[in-house]
Amino acid sequence: MADRLRLEVVTPTRLVVAETVDEVVVPGSDGYFGVLPGHAAFLTTLGTGEVIYRIDRDEFYLAVSGGFAEVRNDKVIVLADAAERPEEIDRGRAARAKERAERRIFGGSSEEAIDYARATAALDRALARHQTVSRNR
Ligand code: ATP
Repeated sequence: MADRLRLEVVTPTRLVVAETVDEVVVPGSDGYFGVLPGHAAFLTTLGTGEVIYRIDRDEFYLAVSGGFAEVRNDKVIVLADAAERPEEIDRGRAARAKERAERRIFGGSSEEAIDYARATAALDRALARHQTVSRNR
């Protein structure tokens, strides 16, 4: 058993993180789970939220949504539909996405047929981005 983990976060278009870390927390679709060295192997679908990883005493955050996460042999691979570091997030765009989703969900529009699952997923992504960009002090 290694005393650290190898973390890779990739999207269909880019490698976002490739680091040796002490601990990782991942938003699985059934909830957040933590991974330390020696963790049992498993594969899960990824939810929407934040990947949090620690290197020594420093914590780092990524907004992620959709995809898969695999833990095996002290390696954590996150294959995300989208992943952004705090400094990559456009706060205004996330705010607009949040307002759009809220209007669809709560606005009571009679003209538009609302796809609530889609609007809720968009709201979750916007909230995760808002949380992650707020980490960037
Ligand atoms: P929007 O409605 O603003 O496009 P979305 O949630 O539908 O938001 P996604 O489909 O999750 O967007 O992502 C599409 C691409 O845009 C991905 O590459 C993602 O990283 C990027 N992206 C989405 N929102 C932001 C943001 N606020 N800041 C930076 N990149 C973003």
